[in-house]
Amino acid sequence: MKIISDPHSGAVARLGSTAMSAPALHSMRSTRSREVVLLALCAGLFVLALLGPRVELPAHYHAFADARAWQFLPNAKDVLSNLGFALFGVLGLLRLRLIDRAIAWTVNRQMAALFFLGLVLTALCSANYHGQPDGAGLWLDRLGMVVAFAGLLGLATADRVSDRAARALAVLMLVAGPAAATTAMHSLDQLAWVVVQFGGLAILVWLVLNKPVPGAWPVRWWLVIGAYVLAKLFELGDAAVFEWTGHWVSGHSLKHLVASCAAWPVLIALRLLSAVADVAASRTPSRDGVPAGGRWL
Ligand SMILES: [Zn+2]
Repeated sequence: MKIISDPHSGAVARLGSTAMSAPALHSMRSTRSREVVLLALCAGLFVLALLGPRVELPAHYHAFADARAWQFLPNAKDVLSNLGFALFGVLGLLRLRLIDRAIAWTVNRQMAALFFLGLVLTALCSANYHGQPDGAGLWLDRLGMVVAFAGLLGLATADRVSDRAARALAVLMLVAGPAAATTAMHSLDQLAWVVVQFGGLAILVWLVLNKPVPGAWPVRWWLVIGAYVLAKLFELGDAAVFEWTGHWVSGHSLKHLVASCAAWPVLIALRLLSAVADVAASRTPSRDGVPAGGRWL
């Protein structure tokens, strides 16, 4: 009898035996089919980026609705509203350090670290761009976002498909994202960048429509997607929101704040994982007989 196991799904099956675990075999097949669909989606988006129609950058793209300065800071609210990304990014990285490594040092954790690091980079790169909006600044702004996208997509893929697919998709995003941003800067054709952004969102929606795999993090992914979509709507309504609010705040400033809130469900999931780890630790006496729980509360 031959025993085969899938380290990515955790499924185990015994070949040559009528006692083969049907659920395990089903899990392995499900993982494989999801990997194939994910690969096909990525291939389709690649073809679209190569053969799709040209997408021009709007003529006044760098002219945002709220250009008011505060003290020495130009475009102050568009710059300062990036603090949300920095706050959630730092909180996430600190929370990850507090989780018991033995329990949580997984691909999920690596992807979450990439996501929170990406948020910190996004805060820095976006604040830099809005301080003096131009093509080079936009390119750098997009590079920061790519790191966050890669981590977020990787985390969702680890939760819904497999660890190896999560790593592959994160690496693909870290390669395709900068390539698309660089192409957009040099040729002014935004198609590849649009495909990266909206294609990434489409893949995220597809991932969330699948059942979680064993060991998935309790992230409420629809809240993440909702925050992302709402942020894009605020971005499109930059000037309109500025008018509606009596020039109090612009759509783009709100876009930064709402987009940063996409990290909230991931932080809540980390809190839940910490609580579960604490309960498990409190039931395991340490060497001196004292329960090990409560360390991270
Ligand atoms: Zn911005």
